[in-house]
Amino acid sequence: MNDKIIIIGPQGAGKGTQAQLLCHHYDFVHISIGEIFRWHMEHHTKLAARVQRIMNEGRLVPDEIVEEVVRKRLEEHDWNWGFVLDGFPRTRAQAEYLFENWNLDKAVYLDIPDEVVHGRVMSRAALGQGGGFTKRADDNPQALRVRLTEYHEKTAPLLQLFQKKNMLVTIDGNNSIDDVYDSVVAGLDLGEPVRPR
Ligand code: AMP
Repeated sequence: MNDKIIIIGPQGAGKGTQAQLLCHHYDFVHISIGEIFRWHMEHHTKLAARVQRIMNEGRLVPDEIVEEVVRKRLEEHDWNWGFVLDGFPRTRAQAEYLFENWNLDKAVYLDIPDEVVHGRVMSRAALGQGGGFTKRADDNPQALRVRLTEYHEKTAPLLQLFQKKNMLVTIDGNNSIDDVYDSVVAGLDLGEPVRPR
């Protein structure tokens, strides 16, 4: 088994949570581009200096920077059993890069309405104050508006592309974590997990 899965959906749809569950149960490697960028910010790297303002404002980082990060990460080849790519691709150019270089199997789309996005992200921000979640500089109303606009303008149109390639698995993300996970596993037709629940 060597599955190459991407997970796509608006902010707060549960991409990170579902990616982590899949990786735990099936031994895939979770690759979150946002996490990689946040690591750079914490460590004040040169890359961080290039992306910090863009990220904090909620805008998308330029394609060439993101593609370089993804290429370096995937070339580590530590994902024998497969990977779940969380937060990439988010633009047409990124999707083309991915199709040209890596044989993707499936795209999981977590579908939730914008009203739910606002509630979820703002409660993540509130929880971040007290612990449990890490407080994100871009979990505030202004940045969230920009992130959602970027999502609808640049990322949502990619769904058609995945649909055409017969790779799209659409899941109703407006359910409990466990219910969404059950639908994801059923939709991906993954077989027996390495670590059962
Ligand atoms: P995330 O944690 O996936 O919400 O990503 C946080 C931020 O990182 C985004 O709002 C963007 O600024 C940046 N980012 C992450 N992935 C990408 C991507 N594929 N393309 C452009 N920017 C990205």
